[in-house]
Amino acid sequence: MIDTQAVKKVKAKYINMNLAGPYPPDWGVREAVREEIRWLQDELATPCEVIFVGNMDAVTMGVAEIKQGRRDVFINDKLLEPGKRTARIMTLCHEIAHISSEQGDATLDFEDTLGDMLGKMAEKAMGR
Ligand SMILES: [Zn+2]
Repeated sequence: MIDTQAVKKVKAKYINMNLAGPYPPDWGVREAVREEIRWLQDELATPCEVIFVGNMDAVTMGVAEIKQGRRDVFINDKLLEPGKRTARIMTLCHEIAHISSEQGDATLDFEDTLGDMLGKMAEKAMGR
């Protein structure tokens, strides 16, 4: 399991809100975020459920959990606010790297996975 303490904290304190649910209220924002998630999941070949969490503390932006066949990424819903797109995508990549590597922060496997993702996306952005 990954980031065990953070997952427990999130589950204990907060209400989970899936993108399929009522949040965020603006359809345009919701569809744009869905598109980002689809793109990243395809690009990184790492399927997972992404759940935006309301009222998460100001420090925790995301948490990944692999448990009982589920691969869940919890994202602080503050990252849905205008101007937070880069931070949101960065956090999604970070948490997806946890799912893909099945390792926690500051481990070699996690850092390698994150670096590999960065390299592949930079390569794609360069068009070759
Ligand atoms: Zn992490």
